[in-house]
Amino acid sequence: MPPKRYPTHLLFLVSLMVPWVLVGSKAEAKMVVEIATTSPTSLVLQSSHLNPPGWRYLPAVDLYIVDSAGEGLLKTLEEEGAVLDKMRESNIQIEASPNDPPDPNDPMLNLQKGILREGQYVGLSEAWAEASKILIENSPVTVAIIDTGIDLTHPDLQDNIWRNKGEIEGNGIDDDGNGYVDDVHGYNFIENNNDVRDDNNHGTHLAGIIGAIGNNGIGIAGINWHVRLMPLKFANSRGKGSSILAIEAIDYAIRNGANIINASWTIRSGEDTSDEDRLLAKAIQKAGEAGVLFVTASGNQFETHAGLNIDETPVYPASFQKENVITVAALSAKGDLADFSNYGRTTVDLAAPGSDILSTISSGRYGVMSGTSMAAAFVSGSASLLACLNPELKPAQIKSILKESAATRRSLQDVVSSQGILNIQTAVSQVLQADISGSTTRQTPSQIHNTPVTGGCSLITP
Ligand code: CA
Repeated sequence: MPPKRYPTHLLFLVSLMVPWVLVGSKAEAKMVVEIATTSPTSLVLQSSHLNPPGWRYLPAVDLYIVDSAGEGLLKTLEEEGAVLDKMRESNIQIEASPNDPPDPNDPMLNLQKGILREGQYVGLSEAWAEASKILIENSPVTVAIIDTGIDLTHPDLQDNIWRNKGEIEGNGIDDDGNGYVDDVHGYNFIENNNDVRDDNNHGTHLAGIIGAIGNNGIGIAGINWHVRLMPLKFANSRGKGSSILAIEAIDYAIRNGANIINASWTIRSGEDTSDEDRLLAKAIQKAGEAGVLFVTASGNQFETHAGLNIDETPVYPASFQKENVITVAALSAKGDLADFSNYGRTTVDLAAPGSDILSTISSGRYGVMSGTSMAAAFVSGSASLLACLNPELKPAQIKSILKESAATRRSLQDVVSSQGILNIQTAVSQVLQADISGSTTRQTPSQIHNTPVTGGCSLITP
């Protein structure tokens, strides 16, 4: 049987989570714990498939969430030496300019392209043209956006929102037995319910960059026009989330078929977090083993306008060096590193547009935002397009194609390991030139333009 959700009194605990407070004396209230099957008690715990009071198992990442009701058992396991590692709750901050008010614009593709024309050029139009030469009959790729939620009814997004086919809406039952009730469009891990609407704009903005519907006569076009956007809400209206909720969302993403996770956030703890990041690293590692690519932002320094070298001053998850992790820095409008963007010749992989990016925001509107968050979304969208074109690609292969195809630029030589800027056109060409699996069907451009397409990964040039 799948694990059950928290009892009601714990909902109260979770809903009271105030950033920064948890770092202090209440930090012990909730933990993520890694258990070895070496002691009598841990053997019972792991074989019983029960969640004792205060304990809940996350199977995909093989970790337990333990709250204060479970402290007794935790103590027993520690005495038996069966606790391999544990992590207290730490704060997470989404990585976009926090003071950027929504700036609704006339929704126009030309405006969107204008922003990407010069310094932040990524060959998007060319990539669409290139990709449209081939009609793909694969299932759409799913991108889990672990963030502030998504505007589910945005006309430029709604047809691309992920749907849990095993779940019946509003019947109060966990129909598919994944441990989450009525999770038709992802989950809200803060409030422990299925309300994934965006009360911040950040998640919706990322969703539009990755997968706003193209060629629909409305607003903008995302990088991948036929993608499934899975909203996993773990940050509140002020963009604050927590490391434990992030791990829970990663577990959900793996178990519910995400191909790519977009993590446009960094852990912000008031103290040394090195001990506490290991279990987040384990969750990301598990995602990689399950074939899930993890795209993350290098992080912003909006106050100082002086990005950190995160090779020297690690920021997580950006500084994790794993083959399924891509870390993305943001470009200025001129195509150099944006002044607010963290960087790192070793740990940051490539740069992508992150200045004055036009995308979808809440309530069906459009707005401009800046940050490494947006840069990460460009890479997630590009990765999802590559995965559509060739579903056989492994996370490490997608990562290496994106890095190898980056357009090198002198000013990026010492700041990102690929020394360059995301180039979607080159990446798409590389994938199309490679021997693509037999699951795809090639058609001529004229056939494509006459073929009505519903679903699938196919693209039609505007
Ligand atoms: Ca369910």
